[in-house]
Amino acid sequence: MTLTGNMLIGQQSVTGHRPAFRGIDPATNQALEPQYAGASAEQVEQACALAWTAQDAYRETSLSSRAAFLESIAEHIENLGDELIESAHAETGLPPARLQGERGRTCSQLRLFARTVRAGEWLDVRVDSAQPQRQPLPRSDLRQRQIALGPVAVFGASNFPLAFSVAGGDTAAALAAGCPVIVKAHSAHPGTSELVGRAVAQAVKACALPEGVFSLLFDSGYEVGIALVSDWRIKAAGFTGSRTGGLALMKAAQARPEPIPVYAEMSSINPVLLFPAALENRAQALAEGFVASLTLGAGQFCTNPGLLIARKGPALDGFLGAVAELIPRSAAQTMLTPGIFGAYQAGVTALQGNPRARAVAVGQDGGGPNQCQTHVFSTDAADFLADQRLQAEVFGATSLIVQCSSDEEIRQVCEHLEGQLTATLHMDDADLALARTLLPTLERKAGRLLVNGWPTGVEVCDAMVHGGPYPATSDARSTSVGTAAILRFLRPVCYQDFPDSLLPTALQQTNPLNLRRLLDGQREATHHGE
Ligand code: NAP
Repeated sequence: MTLTGNMLIGQQSVTGHRPAFRGIDPATNQALEPQYAGASAEQVEQACALAWTAQDAYRETSLSSRAAFLESIAEHIENLGDELIESAHAETGLPPARLQGERGRTCSQLRLFARTVRAGEWLDVRVDSAQPQRQPLPRSDLRQRQIALGPVAVFGASNFPLAFSVAGGDTAAALAAGCPVIVKAHSAHPGTSELVGRAVAQAVKACALPEGVFSLLFDSGYEVGIALVSDWRIKAAGFTGSRTGGLALMKAAQARPEPIPVYAEMSSINPVLLFPAALENRAQALAEGFVASLTLGAGQFCTNPGLLIARKGPALDGFLGAVAELIPRSAAQTMLTPGIFGAYQAGVTALQGNPRARAVAVGQDGGGPNQCQTHVFSTDAADFLADQRLQAEVFGATSLIVQCSSDEEIRQVCEHLEGQLTATLHMDDADLALARTLLPTLERKAGRLLVNGWPTGVEVCDAMVHGGPYPATSDARSTSVGTAAILRFLRPVCYQDFPDSLLPTALQQTNPLNLRRLLDGQREATHHGE
């Protein structure tokens, strides 16, 4: 399949009317073919108008046909074969094996959402039957279900060109909820976006859905993104990227006559607490686990362990010694884009110039362009508490170790943290009491708490929370990974005293979808007795 440089407005493959850009191979800094012209204001309008027209038909598709659509997207992505991996490798520098794994994750994610759609639990049907005899006033018949919010704008992430991009988690969740999607492709991987976009459009056609269910727009600047979230027809946005980008989209969404939710996943330094007994018993293994997690994918994960917290003493010294031995062996790796490399260098330079941060170890220098050299710094708790700059995210393989003099200082450091995607506890039985005292604080700070693991690696499943208080995300009440992400694109509607024939199928008296309804205060079993 040859790349065309075209966008997709519904089923139409069209060339943009704004200035063009090209993807860049970050390993060589060479511009790639073809060029991608940005969408004009009229083209953004067209995509929004098509999505608006498609929404009512799409959100009332049957559970089985919507699930089949998600499965069809997965099949069409798989059918792209090696070309997809080659394109993503050229545009991101990510190794082919990693990209193959990410493609698998993307397709499993779509299939998991298909399973979720079929099960229908997300409709959250609640029925309060009429009580005509109730005194002093009769009660109406009240029935609630969840409906799709409407057209959703999705901004893919640079660091997951497949799993968090055109057909990634946000798109899968929004489509599962019944929302048409317009993707603003990330400028770092336009060819990969075009290929996946075409796969989604083919699935739309194969499933005979309205064409406005999916569009894909390009832009080298920010006009298209701002125009999209500002368009009255867009009812929500999903974003993964920088705090600056997320805040700009939130501002635009709030400035509309009708403000809309922006689910932005932005920055997190993912604190890891090394408890005293764990450090005492296994400093070397902890150091090895830490270095592997820190350097994975050049540290370009939103769950990268950017902050370690531990009590001073010989056990911590042993850990620091092991880290100082391991890090110089870590090879430099190509970062995703020259922009991300530049931001990484600026973050490292800021730490190097901060008298409160001391260098612990430095990884190998790379020869070529955009090479991420690993850095580990250390600071004292008092300095960390005094200097907000020390908890700025440095996106890449850099971490800061905060050395505390007491358990109380550990608590103060935790309390001082901004909102996080994750918080990790490395602990043994003897650490339980201290862990218990810190848990209430950590629960307030992070969306996912883990014991004796590393935060990189986010399982796509029903129980996952990939979210957390600001600035980890713009809205801590939801997740961007896992099936619970569907909830972000739904809202409840209550139907009062409707005749059965006018009710949506999910709410009809005979329960044709066999849902586990909340019926007059009791959760029903399904007809199968599940
Ligand atoms: P980004 O610059 O925030 O870009 C993400 C998307 O938002 C892109 O489509 C971008 O458009 C758009 N955008 C950015 N700023 C905008 C603005 N002011 N108005 C409208 N649209 C805007 O993120 P990135 O390029 O992926 O990486 C840059 C930094 O983001 C990294 O250094 C890192 O700090 C952070 N990051 C965080 C995560 C995470 O998971 N938390 C993941 C990736 C990156 P263009 O495509 O035209 O640039």
